[in-house]
Amino acid sequence: MHVTGGGDCLVLMPTGGGKSLCYQLPSLLREGCGIVVSPLIALMRDQVEGLLDAGVKAAVLNSSLSWEEASSVEQRLLAGDLDLLYIAPERLLTPRCLDLLERAQLALFAIDEAHCVSQWGHDFRPEYIELSMLAERFPNVPRIALTATADELTRSEIVTRLKLDDSPRFIASFDRPNIRYEIIEKQNARSQLQAFIAERHVGDAGIVYCLSRAKVDETAASLASAGIPALAYHAGLNATVRARHQDRFINEDGVVIVATIAFGMGIDKPDVRFVAHLDLPKSIEAYYQETGRAGRDGKPADAWMTYGLADIVQQRRMIDQSTGKDAYKRVSVGKLDALVGLCETAGCRRVRLLDYFGEASGDPNCGNCDNCLSPPRVWDGTVVAQKALSCVYRTGQRFGAGHLIDVLIGNSTERVTQYRHDQLSVFGVGAELNDKQWRTVMRQLVSLGHLQPDSEAYGALKLTASARGVLKGETKAILREATAAGSTCKRVVKAKTAKRAATSSSASPGSSLVPDSHDKSGNAGLLSALRVWRTGMARKRGVPAYVIFHDATLEGIASSRPKTHDQLRVVAGIGDKKLERYGDALLLLVRSEVD
Ligand code: ZN
Repeated sequence: MHVTGGGDCLVLMPTGGGKSLCYQLPSLLREGCGIVVSPLIALMRDQVEGLLDAGVKAAVLNSSLSWEEASSVEQRLLAGDLDLLYIAPERLLTPRCLDLLERAQLALFAIDEAHCVSQWGHDFRPEYIELSMLAERFPNVPRIALTATADELTRSEIVTRLKLDDSPRFIASFDRPNIRYEIIEKQNARSQLQAFIAERHVGDAGIVYCLSRAKVDETAASLASAGIPALAYHAGLNATVRARHQDRFINEDGVVIVATIAFGMGIDKPDVRFVAHLDLPKSIEAYYQETGRAGRDGKPADAWMTYGLADIVQQRRMIDQSTGKDAYKRVSVGKLDALVGLCETAGCRRVRLLDYFGEASGDPNCGNCDNCLSPPRVWDGTVVAQKALSCVYRTGQRFGAGHLIDVLIGNSTERVTQYRHDQLSVFGVGAELNDKQWRTVMRQLVSLGHLQPDSEAYGALKLTASARGVLKGETKAILREATAAGSTCKRVVKAKTAKRAATSSSASPGSSLVPDSHDKSGNAGLLSALRVWRTGMARKRGVPAYVIFHDATLEGIASSRPKTHDQLRVVAGIGDKKLERYGDALLLLVRSEVD
């Protein structure tokens, strides 16, 4: 392998793709200690717990350690008694830490979440830029930059800033076949979300993303009042509450966390069954990274989003009002447009997503997104588009969708009469569509680029250069039909469950032996006993439940009902170390449940 031989490289691999193995393995094979630069303390702690459990000599160096603990870690590093050491970037960059590293034998530097170096990315961390000095100060130590999300622009920024110009790139597939993508029109987002959870995810762990703190609080409260165990998470809550909510989400079964984007990076919970967006993220990268927190165990999971015209207008406004340079704004608008394109496409979402990351998909239909499962009907909407665009023009390009639709339908509202828009030739020309259908049309005219939100007047829509072609009849406007209320996947869920299960087992080796979690074939008693045992053990050891065992491993035990250590050893997820530590307890549990 390239790194084992001492080379630098950039590794792009989706979450759940075994990214950490890329540095763990060469660290163990090479002389010395591997230094892992990671931005999040919570993540480090969990990864180190997992490694210690697997028998790897790993440690953390960060601000959560006492002086004594830190100096003991430093002594072990110098004595060559560590395989892997996790360090936060701000700590690594201190003169004291750099001196320490110079005196130790180092196997490599692994820079995790390398996209944090990108000023245009959504996770920019200024201290990451200074990591470029590693190349000068430690020229003989190989550097690996790793990220789970990066478009071409971010990739080249990582390469430049971390001085990896001549290094090869290793790019794994970004496809997450077990995740089902679904994007629906926003009507009443909160009740749409409740219906989605009630129909498909009762008792499941999930993450719901909202843009504002207020919306997070309201959404969490409304879910809780509907009997769904939901907790809020945002930067406005005090640190204790935040930590408690995060711990409950990680350690308990079936908790839904409602959060701003402040939540999730560094959360490595494998059994998140759904990620829901009530607001549009900023870009496809952000969408991919956030939805990527679902289904890390390789089992079926949903990425579900509601969106509407107001979302586009709001995101555009945030970009317009940001203090960034013009170049930054242009890049941001481009990224937003790409995401809106993904929302509006009538084709396969997965193909579109992979295409954005520069990955060609062999099959035009993935069979596991809303558009593949229930293809939307498209129609030639050129005539209605012309009516809408004329209406924008005749009313002076100063009004939002609501007013424009009133004029088109012929509603003599107070506002319409006040501006004498009932006198215009466009008044009432669009009575063939109702309010909801017109909203769908307006939104698509924005996403097709014929209309754009005005950066001066909030909510107002104005014509773009391409609108002229539509008005003159030179450009056709092909639109998708408004979807029926609620989920488009709902109708086909049953028929496709088998296919989905098959997809997911090919995605994660080992899970093929494991029955689907919905399969209640008499193992339920043993499985719940195993879960209770795991919760107790996790609490006792102060680690998340999945560090003890993943769900798939418990299910493997429940279905194979091993009687001996040898039988237990063949269950996926049980290594020698875990067998030694937990084997007797597990066998005892199996025996007592079976008898
Ligand atoms: Zn598809």
